[in-house]
Amino acid sequence: MCAGTVNEMSAWKAISGLQIAIDGPSGSGKGTIAKMLAEAVGLPVLDTGLLYRFIGYCSMQQGADDEAAVLACMDASLGDMQWKPGGIFVNGENIGNRLRQQDVAAAASRVAAMPGVRSRLLHVQQDIAANGCVMDGRDIGSVVLPGAQAKFFLTASLRERARRRWSQLQGLGAEASLDAILNEIRDRDTQDAERTHSPLQQAGDALSIDSTTMRIDEVVDRMLSIMERRELISKA
Ligand code: C5P
Repeated sequence: MCAGTVNEMSAWKAISGLQIAIDGPSGSGKGTIAKMLAEAVGLPVLDTGLLYRFIGYCSMQQGADDEAAVLACMDASLGDMQWKPGGIFVNGENIGNRLRQQDVAAAASRVAAMPGVRSRLLHVQQDIAANGCVMDGRDIGSVVLPGAQAKFFLTASLRERARRRWSQLQGLGAEASLDAILNEIRDRDTQDAERTHSPLQQAGDALSIDSTTMRIDEVVDRMLSIMERRELISKA
């Protein structure tokens, strides 16, 4: 398993070991924004949702239902997986697009509620982030990287988030109705926010940004200027 590479041509220079945590619900834009931010400041980016999706996908394939079966499945599959900037690779094949489908999202949310799954992935994520990174997920600022120097919590209206997911799935060539996606996101929001272990929550020291009416580049610019003011990054 490996994390991303650092871009030497970035417009900004980050302080040594900078960790940027971006949390938020599905469709809040955190994945795209994390990638753009990472590019701008020259840090690796880690989409932790993809990791939960991978475990959900393996469990679906193996028919693993209870936590013991899911953990056995994890042990068998994590070693074959490579986590790289372009996605998740198994036997050299990028399975990122398959993992982004709606059926896998529901399986990811189900395994993500299992404490054993979370505690194993916690160490994986912390090891990868040790030398600095941009990491996006649900519990990054609150649980995975509580010491991150910059923490953001992204939100957007349910309808706008569903519209974004719909257009992303269209881009992947997948059939999906906007209403079905809206209902799926609402269910997943509830499951992610109400679970006992590491629920989706805003860390007390995270800055909240509502992106409903903002363009992606405006959100990224706002984050960069906040970090510049706090002397976490400077112009390269
Ligand atoms: O972000 P994405 O929609 O790809 O995440 C898929 C699922 O993985 C979420 O619905 C959530 O249940 C789980 N997840 C999580 N903690 C994270 C990232 C994702 O529980 N840090």
